[in-house]
Amino acid sequence: MIPRYSPSRLQTYSSCGMALYLEKVKKVPLREAVWFVQGTAVHEALEGYERSFRTLDPAAAEALYVAAWDRELAAAREKQPDESMWMVGGRKTLATDTETRFQAGIQQVHGYIDRNLPGDDLAAAELIPGEAAVETGFELDCGEFSVLGYIDFVREEKSTGRLIPEDWKTGRDVPADPYQLATYKIAVEELTGEVVEWGRFWMCRNNAPVQVDLRKYTKDMVRDWYQQLHNGVQNGVYLANPKSCFTCTVRPSCFFAA
Ligand code: SF4
Repeated sequence: MIPRYSPSRLQTYSSCGMALYLEKVKKVPLREAVWFVQGTAVHEALEGYERSFRTLDPAAAEALYVAAWDRELAAAREKQPDESMWMVGGRKTLATDTETRFQAGIQQVHGYIDRNLPGDDLAAAELIPGEAAVETGFELDCGEFSVLGYIDFVREEKSTGRLIPEDWKTGRDVPADPYQLATYKIAVEELTGEVVEWGRFWMCRNNAPVQVDLRKYTKDMVRDWYQQLHNGVQNGVYLANPKSCFTCTVRPSCFFAA
């Protein structure tokens, strides 16, 4: 079977190759964080809302969030029972961080629904008729390897027919690299035959989109990024970049940790 890569693997490799090496090659124990639980739970609620073509009422979306939160938190605790291996924000305790993020996730779900109402011009595309384009899977054929992933949401601007891939972010930072959205652009173009010019991040922390101009990215350019990743992995090239060590899941096993 040919190697398969994802946008998140490319992002990890480009931000710190050592993090990818320790997680995927050495398979060291990973740190956990409640923000991962929050992210998954918010995604499930937004997914349910958009999959229903915005007919799901806010209380039902919140119930989806709570169910996903309970399930994910229990699974994460089982996977990593050692509390010293849990990252927390600032000087908070794990208990405080858990409660704060649980409430923040609820606000993010309601905030999204308030800003994305039924009847808005920007709503779910139907890449398959009758189905909202949520968690759209794709696989890009790049010859000796492929790139696969899932797009959180593809919007259609109903007045123009423009398609806009979107990633939902529950964290603070807007990604500085183009890897994820440019990959989604090529994926949506291959799935639909339509030209994609813009992508978006929906930043749940402030309930606002960040638009990203994707017009300059081509399939050759995107394939070349993954070719660099492929070459690095094939040749065992994993450079450490000790810049984001505080939130790094493999930090306890890393010689280079800042
Ligand atoms: S602790 Fe820092 S240097 Fe080590 S893998 Fe993580 S980000 Fe890279």
